[in-house]
Amino acid sequence: MASSPTTVTITGAGGQIGYALLFRIAAGDMLGSDRPVRLRLLEIPQGMKAAEGAALELQDGAFDLLAGVDITDDPRAAFDGTNIALLVGARPRGPGMERGDLLAANAGIFGPQGAAIGAGAADDIRVVVVGNPANTNALIARAAAPDVPDDRFTALTRLDHNRALGQLAEALDAPVWAIRDVAIWGNHSATQFPDVSHARVGSRLVTEVLAERLGGAEAARAWIDDTFIPRVAKRGAEIIAVRGSSSVASAANATLAHVRDWVLGTRGGWTSAAVVSHGEYGVPEGLVSSYPVTSHDGTYRIVEGLTLSDAARARFEASVAELEDERDAVRALGVL
Ligand code: NDP
Repeated sequence: MASSPTTVTITGAGGQIGYALLFRIAAGDMLGSDRPVRLRLLEIPQGMKAAEGAALELQDGAFDLLAGVDITDDPRAAFDGTNIALLVGARPRGPGMERGDLLAANAGIFGPQGAAIGAGAADDIRVVVVGNPANTNALIARAAAPDVPDDRFTALTRLDHNRALGQLAEALDAPVWAIRDVAIWGNHSATQFPDVSHARVGSRLVTEVLAERLGGAEAARAWIDDTFIPRVAKRGAEIIAVRGSSSVASAANATLAHVRDWVLGTRGGWTSAAVVSHGEYGVPEGLVSSYPVTSHDGTYRIVEGLTLSDAARARFEASVAELEDERDAVRALGVL
């Protein structure tokens, strides 16, 4: 077992996703069964009791890998020396709340958290934002930590990626592991573009196999445009309608997978993550956009050189336009 524990800070740790994350991290599902972890739970004052309760249960889990649990409502204490920050807690959209109000409330959360990360986190800090609007919350946090390399700030689109894999596995009657090179482009929102144009099942293009199964290329295209893309993009609402509350275990699972692949590397094929753009595929520099990515040596890198059809480019650009609107709204608040 590696000797010094990795410090993992979870914000909103008393919430539902936090509850689904903590025990799996302590069990080694994120960093492997040879890496001890120290958990820091950050909550707002009204969430502290829930976090304290979760900490009692963590103790009762008697996890071999768990080197300690700290609970705080102070971002500076939460991020001091931390190696991995999972920013889950966010202000949900309340009844009648305008988008500007939502962005302002979240700027008040993610700005100070970014500043605390800049002030005290470990040199190898890696940040993933889960709380929505995740891409723009990551943009805000990153802007508040100018001395931290921008490749350390990411937002979660792995759940969208996994949802796409799940839908394809069902449609192709193939195991998930046989499907590779799916991509999520743009914002983690209903405008996202789940893209199968480069995807393969085994050695064959997914689009070809779909055409065979559905009775032609036109039918395959219709299924992708009218069923697959909207179902992936609106899956969160479907879960709420069926389950009666939002997705929790799948969101936590995707968060663990995002960090695991970031730290330990992707093996064969891509995954998707929202990362800071340096202009790749025409996305304005500085926006946090989802791309197909690989991870090597502890760094997510955008898969470059892919050809996008006009239709694909139009979908991606519409999602990027939404990211620009969110950035501009945050700028108008004087946050950036
Ligand atoms: P959840 O744990 O269910 O969700 C937390 C955040 O994750 C929400 O912003 C939610 O966005 C987002 N999210 C991203 N992807 C998904 C997904 N696929 N499914 C569901 N949610 C997703 O919320 P709870 O209300 O249970 O818990 C939030 C906790 O955060 C509370 O304990 C609260 O006290 C705390 N909090 C902590 C803060 C801090 O540490 N400074 C600040 C604010 C809150 P969406 O709203 O769009 O569903």
